[in-house]
Amino acid sequence: MVIELLMKKFDRSKKLYKKAIAVIPGGVNSPVRAFSAVGGNPLFIESARGSKIHDVDGNSYIDYVLSWGPMILGHAHPRIVRALRNAIEKGTSYGAPTALETKLAELLIRAYPSMDKVRMVNSGTEATMSAIRLARGFTGRDKIIKFEGCYHGHSDGLLVKAGSGAATFGVPDSAGVPAAYARDTITLPYNDVPTIKATIEREWRSIAAVIVEPVAGNMGCVLPKKSFLSTLRKITKKYGVLLIFDEVMTGFRVSFGGAQAYYGINPDITCLGKVIGGGLPVGAYGGKNEVMSVVSPEGPVYQAGTLSGNPLAMTAGIETIKELSKPNTYKKIGEKSSMLKEGLVDAAKRAGIATKFYMAGSMFCTYFTGRHVIDYRTAKASDTEKFSRFFSGMLQRGINLAPSQFESGFLSLAHTSKDIEDTIKSSYDVFKSL
Ligand SMILES: *Cc1c(COP(=O)(O)O)cnc(C)c1O
Repeated sequence: MVIELLMKKFDRSKKLYKKAIAVIPGGVNSPVRAFSAVGGNPLFIESARGSKIHDVDGNSYIDYVLSWGPMILGHAHPRIVRALRNAIEKGTSYGAPTALETKLAELLIRAYPSMDKVRMVNSGTEATMSAIRLARGFTGRDKIIKFEGCYHGHSDGLLVKAGSGAATFGVPDSAGVPAAYARDTITLPYNDVPTIKATIEREWRSIAAVIVEPVAGNMGCVLPKKSFLSTLRKITKKYGVLLIFDEVMTGFRVSFGGAQAYYGINPDITCLGKVIGGGLPVGAYGGKNEVMSVVSPEGPVYQAGTLSGNPLAMTAGIETIKELSKPNTYKKIGEKSSMLKEGLVDAAKRAGIATKFYMAGSMFCTYFTGRHVIDYRTAKASDTEKFSRFFSGMLQRGINLAPSQFESGFLSLAHTSKDIEDTIKSSYDVFKSL
């Protein structure tokens, strides 16, 4: 077993990486894909099916990255592949309305009753950026509040003390973001109820919106305190501040109705992405009629997109949500999730490694720390060097995790009990070797 492990070769990935870095910054089109935080070269992928992803060197992995969340049905799901094949024959983009856009909008609104109307965009970044503009246009106020370690895409005003790549690389603010933009973003600690209350009571006249990941998935996986989300809802309503739930990751992930259904909180604006595109580039934002009526062409807040509502992306989204609507889907993925949770927690314990494990629906994170993680500061207290060794050990054993301590892992409906058992077994071996 050990000899076989040591023999895992990445020669072709290494070769392709070398070619890529000559023509693409860092060789990747999104920074987190580079293995900078854990060392080594990124794997170049040849194909994926179900719970497995296959690299160009012929290695296979049980995949817990799932394209960073979207592939909740597993890779190359037959229903999605079939639907896309049919759709592609009819042309790939028209720049004119289709019935598909209305269909996906109807499916989203039915699952998220806090929305009367929804606008399709091409990414999560576009969704949150547009939601902020909408909130500013609606309220006539300029400032926004976000939380440390929450990632809302890479638009200027939101790239302040952000999570995901920004957390991984320890660059809270990106170069190229004008100080004037960042000045309108107030950043507060996640789960800190007194601070958010005091800030809104003091400054509400200039605050358009609070944007939050209702479960924070871009600094690992941080669960909201019960009083955190309910206080946010109460205090924003009282002062006419809009509450934006960035459910790009948690939508159709924490539950069918996202974190808002799970925690029973209705935001004013919801941002979606990832799962709703079924692996194609999609984002969406929506809210009540009153709010959405200020979006162009109905109202004065401009927002547009050449490929928005793209027929292929809509098709993948529609079929994904229909598949997820089948009875017991979330019960099934919940059972798989519990099995993984219990196994990983137990494996770490048996191996004598201090970890904290958090899970919401089918997203999760193992932090290498003995202390509870409740915000960015406590997440950053994790032993990232230990995580890197864990990551490499798991990869060698054919388990693909996100290459950073500060990312969530994901399960799909395609993960089998055997996949999960193998993962737990490997995790014990790797924990033991740390
Ligand atoms: C992934 C993510 C985004 C950004 O979405 P992109 O499609 O990568 O632009 C925004 N918010 C959250 C919570 C995310 O997880």
